[in-house]
Amino acid sequence: MSGAEREQAVLDQVPTDLYIGGEWRAATGGGTLPVEDPATEQTLVEVADGQVDDALAALAAAADAQAAWAASAPRERGEILRRAYEAIVAQTDELALLMTLEMGKALAESRAEIAYAAEFFRWFSEEAVRVHGRYMVNTTGAGRILTLRQPVGPCVFVTPWNFPTAMGTRKIAPAIAAGCTMVVKPAQQTPLSMLALARILERAGLPAGVLNVITARHSGAVIEPLLRDRRTRKLSFTGSTEVGRTLIRQSAEQVLRVSMELGGNAPFLVFEDADLDAAVEGAMTAKMRNVGEACTAANRFHVHESLAAEFAERLTERMAALRVGRGAEPDVDVGPLIDSAQRDTVSELVDDATQRGAHLALGGSAVAGTGYFYEPTVLTGVPADARVLAEEIFGPVAPIATFSTETEAVDAANRTEYGLVAYVYTRDLTRALRVCEGIETGMVGLNQGIVSNPAAPFGGVKQSGFGREGGFEGIGEYLETKYVAVAL
Ligand code: NAD
Repeated sequence: MSGAEREQAVLDQVPTDLYIGGEWRAATGGGTLPVEDPATEQTLVEVADGQVDDALAALAAAADAQAAWAASAPRERGEILRRAYEAIVAQTDELALLMTLEMGKALAESRAEIAYAAEFFRWFSEEAVRVHGRYMVNTTGAGRILTLRQPVGPCVFVTPWNFPTAMGTRKIAPAIAAGCTMVVKPAQQTPLSMLALARILERAGLPAGVLNVITARHSGAVIEPLLRDRRTRKLSFTGSTEVGRTLIRQSAEQVLRVSMELGGNAPFLVFEDADLDAAVEGAMTAKMRNVGEACTAANRFHVHESLAAEFAERLTERMAALRVGRGAEPDVDVGPLIDSAQRDTVSELVDDATQRGAHLALGGSAVAGTGYFYEPTVLTGVPADARVLAEEIFGPVAPIATFSTETEAVDAANRTEYGLVAYVYTRDLTRALRVCEGIETGMVGLNQGIVSNPAAPFGGVKQSGFGREGGFEGIGEYLETKYVAVAL
């Protein structure tokens, strides 16, 4: 089979309808929306354009399924997740290709995301059977304290385009494990990966109504009525801080349980005692994973003045060696950005930095021709007031600034409204601990350029949001604690 035939075969298999109450159906009115390949700007396929009535039907299906699902055996929920995990792993090639077609990143990156995404199913298949409360003697000795943990109830999930599968499995897996039902709305740019995942869960034996998927062109129009509906008990959102704020406001009316995985502006600190080889390696991962379109992407490099020139030179050399191209082609390292708006934002931030005096060590331009490609870019001597240090870049751009003292470095790291992740490179143990404690983020990569791990609690502080996904904490987002005061 040729490459083009394989791509078509993968597209032919993916469902394009809404998944509601265990059935695949067209949107009310029959409307569709195009899914574009960001490398070719061509439409890959059309999917259902869900309307408010469809979203409400999905919520009704989730609400109807809730009681039986909450009462199902935890082992059975775990086994469904385990079967889905095995199926995802078995279909890695097809799922990765599908993801690359709609999202753009290189196939190796999509394969890595599929492995990461599947791992949430395995982790939570194991957690489903470990939910427990306690039985305790009252401090007075009279009476007992009993606590139980019960599923929150029907959830609404809204996910972004940058990790189309993993940002879904991080929510879906713990919700299934806990006994919650759900309505999921993937990003309009990348709905195919989520539809493929729903098909896998259907085939793994997930009962009708537990998972419902709505694809839609107008996200706000279909989500707001769900947040105002009393059947909804929880919202979990991954996306920009701006949209997150709007959804928090909408959730306030019903006092919904809310989890928010929002934007980031990760500082990458390299101290004078760092292992420079490891720092450059980590920088490549932290910057270039997902074409820089990650909430965890190193947004700014703060390097001790004694190492800055060498660090910049070595990073530039590595960045220059990357091959830009259509992600589905072999040997490509850097795919296109998601759309023209994203590429314009990246261009603006780079232009602003150079106008303020930053030096362009590499790249600095959009790639001419079809597709939303942007050159791997390194900026040195970036002044403190450059927008690129303050705003989320979401592209293959590495701005480097310098510092002279540890206090200066930590202050610079914390000078942002975001607080998702920071990367710290030092071989001095006491400094490492001091800096990890001083940095205002939910996560720190200490001498490593990646933190994402299904066994660890992922999440931010400040305007990067609240709530944790993965780890032992992850299932807690989907459980309520009930306390029973027992007379004895
Ligand atoms: P986005 O906020 O534009 O969109 C995210 C999702 O929200 C999409 O499904 C979109 O359709 C939907 N949406 C948009 N407006 C809405 C509205 N008014 N009501 C309801 N839903 C609405 O974000 P994006 O551009 O898709 O993703 C990139 C952002 O996501 C970045 O800021 C990134 O940092 C963040 N992100 C955060 C994490 C994390 O775990 N903290 C992970 C990945 C991405």
